[in-house]
Amino acid sequence: MSREPDQLASAEDALSAQEEAYVESRALVDAEADGDERAVEAALRPRSLDEVIGQERVREQLSLVLQAARGRQRAPDHVLLSGPPGLGKTTLAMIIAAEMSSPLRLTSGPAITHAGDLAAILSGMNDGDVLFVDEIHRMSRPAEEMLYMAMEDFRVDVVIGKGPGATAIPLEIPPFTLVGATTRAGLLPSPLRDRFGFTAHLEYYEPEDLERIVRRSATLLDVELRNDGGREISRRSRGTPRIANRLLRRVRDFAQVRGDGAIDVATAVAALDLLGVDAEGLDRLDRELLRMIAETFEGGPVGLSTLADAIGEDRGTIEDVYEPYLLQKGLLQRTPRGRVITRLGRAHLGHPDTPAGDDHRLFG
Ligand code: ADP
Repeated sequence: MSREPDQLASAEDALSAQEEAYVESRALVDAEADGDERAVEAALRPRSLDEVIGQERVREQLSLVLQAARGRQRAPDHVLLSGPPGLGKTTLAMIIAAEMSSPLRLTSGPAITHAGDLAAILSGMNDGDVLFVDEIHRMSRPAEEMLYMAMEDFRVDVVIGKGPGATAIPLEIPPFTLVGATTRAGLLPSPLRDRFGFTAHLEYYEPEDLERIVRRSATLLDVELRNDGGREISRRSRGTPRIANRLLRRVRDFAQVRGDGAIDVATAVAALDLLGVDAEGLDRLDRELLRMIAETFEGGPVGLSTLADAIGEDRGTIEDVYEPYLLQKGLLQRTPRGRVITRLGRAHLGHPDTPAGDDHRLFG
């Protein structure tokens, strides 16, 4: 499992290197994909903007950017995609390249540890290539600075030597399009953020869109969905296509072993309950996190690091993977003094209602 990430790898390799970091902490509703999942995902990925379901606004704006670029026969503006994992950032990067009939190169922020890594990637680019940098907020600072210049002037200065004798050799780069993806746009320094001509934030999917995604995937996987089986799966998928596709496959396994292979509501409910994914799409770890705040920390506020230590999870995983959905659902709240469970959160755990006055802590 432990393989050094290549600086510039094939699509599959680059993805797997990034994903391996998360394998340890994966749960059923973790929005990161693991190795086996990639092959299935590749089969389910929309290949063109027309095939993309949901995210109407982003799709429409992106379609304009690409059409205009095609009209001018120029590489499109650099694109920044932000949003939680599993919402389609990599998919959109692949589609941008496909729609421009350009090759796609994939790498990720953590793989670029030195400016030299980036220089090597950029010097190998051809006119019109699309470079996808996943987790762009995790790139090293010197590489980031090199990237500013490359994005703006299609030029980098390669520094040879060290100290007073060091010389910078300018290197021209053919016009390319950078597609950056990040789960945390707020962590990008503004000079980098400002150099993207098009920025889009992907939101969690609407239930109807997610249901359409489940139906599409079921057709591609040759799985029969009956009555509202697809709706039940999408309801429990945290607004995230990757999770919807994963739950669909797990429910399919259940239906195959315990039934006739078709998925109806009863099968979906039984399978998802068995898997520990509750009616709101929360899994064991989500509930553990809420319970910890409610019980051990008496409702909060509790700092992120303390919480991470208490449940034995990585801070970043809690912040990027678990929290956004709990916040969006109103089960958890962030305050200047830490995380606090809300009334809804307590209700979800089946805890008695908070005494009046307790919620004042939310505004502490
Ligand atoms: P991210 O890069 O944001 O983590 P991905 O682009 O890898 O997410 O998407 C995860 C999976 O979800 C893809 O394999 C694809 O099958 C599915 N998916 C994402 N967005 C959509 C969409 N809009 N329509 C249909 N399927 C989607």
